Amino acid sequence: MYNYVKYQCVYLDIRTLARETIFENNPAGMVVLGPGQRIIDYNKAAEEFFAGINISLKNSPIEQILPQEPKLLEIFQSQGNHEVSLVVDGEERFFEIDMVPLGEPQNGNTRMLKSIRDVTEERKIQEKLRFLATTDSLSGLYNRGEFMNLAKKEFARAKRDNEELSLLLMDLDHFKNINDSFGHEAGEEVIREMGRTIMANFRKSDIAGRIGGEEFAVVLKCASLDEGIKVAEKFRETVARRKVIYEKQEISFTVSIGVAAMSDNADDISDIGDLLKIADTALYKAKAKGRNCVLPFFL
Ligand code: GH3
Ligand code: MG
Ligand code: MG
Repeated sequence: MYNYVKYQCVYLDIRTLARETIFENNPAGMVVLGPGQRIIDYNKAAEEFFAGINISLKNSPIEQILPQEPKLLEIFQSQGNHEVSLVVDGEERFFEIDMVPLGEPQNGNTRMLKSIRDVTEERKIQEKLRFLATTDSLSGLYNRGEFMNLAKKEFARAKRDNEELSLLLMDLDHFKNINDSFGHEAGEEVIREMGRTIMANFRKSDIAGRIGGEEFAVVLKCASLDEGIKVAEKFRETVARRKVIYEKQEISFTVSIGVAAMSDNADDISDIGDLLKIADTALYKAKAKGRNCVLPFFL
């Protein structure tokens, strides 16, 4: 009997010690909040987290600890899970702050554990993957998939809000000749330059993508057909003035542009695919007319 009690005590000691050690040394910051949202306990990682934003933890109500950080205070007072970005040592970092209830509320007081996890590296990797999956590496514009995604959404939004929208479909002229005369690498340099020219000459709110080898598309928000044609004509002139220097050789290039607008034939245009088809027909006509020009669908 004596031995049994002794072993029970030893096991309990070990169990308590293990739990305390796990709490204290957990890489996630942990803060235990009791009645009145008073801090009852916290671990080393929590202390370090708060030290990083110049706050020292003590056993006081949380609102006395975080008066300078209203965003954090709200998160610590809430009972949900949140993500927050904070500037730590001059660098933006992202934290996941989750809540685990500790038993049932007592006398209307919720007792809870708040865990704080630094997810900055995860977010950076996710952001990088998202960039790689949506961007065309040569031109720096959206790739076809992302362009179609965004253009589809913008089309639906414009239709719902009764706004105008126009689409420019552009194709470099005689691009095969550029490859044949100056080499494939020179051709790629021209595509890079097209990317830079598009980025520098359209609004940030426009959606621009490389949707084929030497084919580009731009959705102009809130732009009628006339406005689309004007913008396209100005852009065509800009491209015609641009030159790429490749291995000391000067390469000029031109672009043909087909323009379509949502108001063109509203009944026949139900999605971005329809608008692309119309712009493609316009582009085909621009090529037939002699290239280096802008044409809308109806001419
Ligand atoms: P058009 O004025 O009728 O458009 O003539 P084009 O020569 O531009 O058109 P065509 O469709 O005959 O040829 C397009 C060429 O673009 C063929 C292809 O090798 C080249 N091309 C497509 N993608 C790339 C690329 O990523 N890099 C390079 N260097 N060339 C590419
Ligand atoms: Mg071409
Ligand atoms: Mg083409």
